Amino acid sequence: MSLEGKTALVTGSTSGIGLGIAQSLAKAGADLILNGFGDASKVIADLQQFGGKIGHHPADVSDPAQIADMISYAEREFGGIDILVNNAGIQHVSSVEEFPVERWDAIIAINLSSVFHSTRLALPGMRKRGWGRIVNIASTHGLVGSVGKAAYVAAKHGVIGLTKVVALETATSNITCNAICPGWVLTPLVQKQIDQRISKGIDPYQAQHDLLAEKQPSLEFVTPPQLGELVVFLCSEAGSQIRGAAWNVDGGWLAQ
Ligand code: NAD
Repeated sequence: MSLEGKTALVTGSTSGIGLGIAQSLAKAGADLILNGFGDASKVIADLQQFGGKIGHHPADVSDPAQIADMISYAEREFGGIDILVNNAGIQHVSSVEEFPVERWDAIIAINLSSVFHSTRLALPGMRKRGWGRIVNIASTHGLVGSVGKAAYVAAKHGVIGLTKVVALETATSNITCNAICPGWVLTPLVQKQIDQRISKGIDPYQAQHDLLAEKQPSLEFVTPPQLGELVVFLCSEAGSQIRGAAWNVDGGWLAQ
């Protein structure tokens, strides 16, 4: 299936899951606006092989004004956003009593409020053009909790709630809104959690195995390309009546 002629914005796409999603969308023919920290030039050069137009906007999505600037850039340089993938996210692991207030605020701003801001700002253009896809990268932690992840679990549950409301408010249009709920994916975000175990003296292989064994029955990581292909499917005609779903891709995590 071809997404030629469509423009996708993927937040947090300079690494990890967002990068995998950007690659799948570019391969399917979409023009791409990348976002995220770090030097994007290598990623841009790599995506240009697929022939679409590639841009990058460095907005810090914890700041609504910078999100607004990114949406204006998309309208000015690409003619608007057809596919919005809200992916940028951070993690912090700590008990509720010891959770740093500043980390709570940052996680809520980046993992939840940014989804509200980019959605409210991208929707009018989608409505005007009569087509749109919004895909929110939530998590299994949008559906169940885990100790030490109060802010992340609260934010991801919020993302799934917001997804349902946007899906209902767009239900009679050609715009859909869904959430994807990955289990463990081996990205820098998860590597930090493995490193925390290694720093307690656990062997690196064992640390990775233990992390998987606690939650993910397949004992294998989900991969960014597997998530990217699901986003492409949600953008297809076959995906047009999938609305308000929270679709887990989790090696069996939530089947338990
Ligand atoms: P990652 O750390 O590899 O990538 C995060 C991306 O977000 C990077 O491009 C980073 O530059 C960007 N980013 C971070 N803060 C930002 C900000 N303030 N403004 C703009 N960009 C910012 O993480 P990942 O594992 O690829 O996570 C991506 C998404 O997937 C997150 O929402 C995360 O919660 C979710 N997720 C990850 C896993 C997993 O196992 N890795 C599982 C479920 C859900």
